[in-house]
Amino acid sequence: MAAPLPGELRAFDDFKGARDAASPADRLREVRLRAARFRDRMLKGPEVRYYGSFSLVRVPYPTRYALLNACSVPTPFVHILNRVFVMQVDTDQGLKTLVASPSDIHANAETPFFKRLARSFGPFQEFGKKLLGPVIATVETVLDRIGLSPEKVDYISYDHLHTQDLRNWLGSGEKTGYFPNAKLLVMRQEWESTLGLLPPQLDWYCPNGIDGIHPSRVVLLEGDTMLGDSVALMHTPGHTEGNHSFVAHTPEGLMVTSENGVAPECYAPLASRIPGVARFARQTGMEVILNGNTLERGLDQYISMVQEKEVAGPSIRNTEFPNMTCSSELAAYWAFPGVAPTMSFGDLSFGRVVV
Ligand SMILES: [Zn+2]
Repeated sequence: MAAPLPGELRAFDDFKGARDAASPADRLREVRLRAARFRDRMLKGPEVRYYGSFSLVRVPYPTRYALLNACSVPTPFVHILNRVFVMQVDTDQGLKTLVASPSDIHANAETPFFKRLARSFGPFQEFGKKLLGPVIATVETVLDRIGLSPEKVDYISYDHLHTQDLRNWLGSGEKTGYFPNAKLLVMRQEWESTLGLLPPQLDWYCPNGIDGIHPSRVVLLEGDTMLGDSVALMHTPGHTEGNHSFVAHTPEGLMVTSENGVAPECYAPLASRIPGVARFARQTGMEVILNGNTLERGLDQYISMVQEKEVAGPSIRNTEFPNMTCSSELAAYWAFPGVAPTMSFGDLSFGRVVV
């Protein structure tokens, strides 16, 4: 049985049963309808007190995964930019601080896929790493810069646990973590996956990344959950089975974050200027372009991406694209020509952080 949630967290059932139909087209239709209703409901509620996103590290990523089947540029890699997000929310239990997607850049390098990639540079490993994956900031320097002490962080969470090593953050065994009071918000499915991975998943999970974390530091979510009334954790299976998206109500509307897609244009491919993408969408009728490194649930990922973009709605920055602030956002890089994003959000900041 599920443990009761802390008072500031609340399960919601706007999408309950939306994927029950046997017909995928029916499932998609139902999810789209529910997404529009959920969007209206959330927009009627309060905004977050603070929302900030910060660049951490650029990571080389195979083009064939990032823009599954759609990109015609022969560049083998693109850059995706990992960000950390800080959200502060007023709740019945007081102000709560959530740090979303805090990547431990150095520990994450143990992820088998990236380890192999680094090794492929042979004697030029260090040079290759700097060239391919320049570090911009760390979680520690970001928090320091905005004046937020790690003790004040109530929750950390990831849209999924690929490449993540949580031990430095939450502590492991006798070791206390950098966030002494934070609990992990994670979908039960994602947590269970990480404890029993199959070979198609293993390449992307950091070995031992959750070892020794005390169960009291982990809040297992059974599905869609609100933090206060201005942030939602929405189960969006696909990229991984236990994947979720963050939905934050900001002054620019609902910002939706996950890694089901890697750029706003993956959610509006007809408006993409990356060679091949719009043509692929026209020829196939695909309304989203999947981030396809594992495709744990391909059709669900497609439906989840439609759900995400319908909840996000069009960006006021460019109405051709939805408010998808991808956790790993496609970023232009001189070494990988021809795959610059048509639109990207970059680092965002709304409101003033409460320290
Ligand atoms: Zn991933």
